[in-house]
Amino acid sequence: MTQKSSGKSGRLTARGLIFILASLGGVAFASAAIISGNQDKIDNDAQSAKQALDSLHFSDAPGNPVSAAHMDDVKIAALDNQAIKASLAPPEVVLEGAFAQGGLVRGKTEPGASVKLDDIDVMVDPEGWFMLGFHRDHPDSATLVVTSKDGRQYQQVLSIEDREFNIERIDGLPDNKVSTYTQEELAKIGRDKEKKTAARMKTTPDALWRDGFDWPLTGRISGQFGSQRILNGVPKRMHSGVDIAAPTGTPVHAPADGIVTLAESDMYFEGGLVFIDHGQWVETIFMHMSEVKVKAGDRVSKGQVIGAVGATGRATGPHLHWSMKWKNRLVDAKLAAGPMPE
Ligand SMILES: [Zn+2]
Repeated sequence: MTQKSSGKSGRLTARGLIFILASLGGVAFASAAIISGNQDKIDNDAQSAKQALDSLHFSDAPGNPVSAAHMDDVKIAALDNQAIKASLAPPEVVLEGAFAQGGLVRGKTEPGASVKLDDIDVMVDPEGWFMLGFHRDHPDSATLVVTSKDGRQYQQVLSIEDREFNIERIDGLPDNKVSTYTQEELAKIGRDKEKKTAARMKTTPDALWRDGFDWPLTGRISGQFGSQRILNGVPKRMHSGVDIAAPTGTPVHAPADGIVTLAESDMYFEGGLVFIDHGQWVETIFMHMSEVKVKAGDRVSKGQVIGAVGATGRATGPHLHWSMKWKNRLVDAKLAAGPMPE
């Protein structure tokens, strides 16, 4: 790719220009596509641009090196500073949410931009909305890179707050819900797992979560996300969600718009179970329900009743287990929903 400069005009390779622009403006992120149409006027530090060009030894065509003297002629270094700054400005990025282990952060940038969180490709909807998630044991930072359609780049190191998680002991569960399973039970657990995996094969690209998350019901919080579970004295995986105690039959509402991807009334561990896809791999999960009032494929709106509280599956009493995922990371639904209303 070549790029024409103004006036008497030599032809410069885009690569050379980028180097100059970066050295003049101290702008770390520039790319070829940015340059187009923005170097009519050139009034910056000619000397440093010349040096930058000389150090690169680039040429406009094979066997035709661009000399420093020639550069004086074309005044390549007199690039209009403001125009350059505007053309190189990183894409605007607005972030809002919990920068913490288990947190979700909503983002908005310009349409067409692409987003990376560390080495993860993040989905961006046509209006520029995207979501980020941090798991329970996330290290203390993450790097966000947003690249506009024309190659301008925003980079930010996010600090991720470290959180304390409890140990929770639950005794009195039937043994066959904790550790000793019959062949039949193992077969059922296997079939359930397949259903769950199949429900998670795709996501809608739309940011249906855009208006945020409400609590699916109110009640006493009886279990926290991230706590180490010891069930009948046996250490188990961390608790994947927040438990809300409420009487059997209490309606459970969709916390945000979404599409139901799984609706089962009798899962081995989860009992009455619903998955809702809120787009861009943001998922909410509801367990132990006594009734399931939606079916896979249903489009649900925020606030719509999807089921009722129960004690089905592995539960000692009526409550809703509510968990949330971002991609393959479990995140804390409580942080996403904020303080519970009275
Ligand atoms: Zn639970």
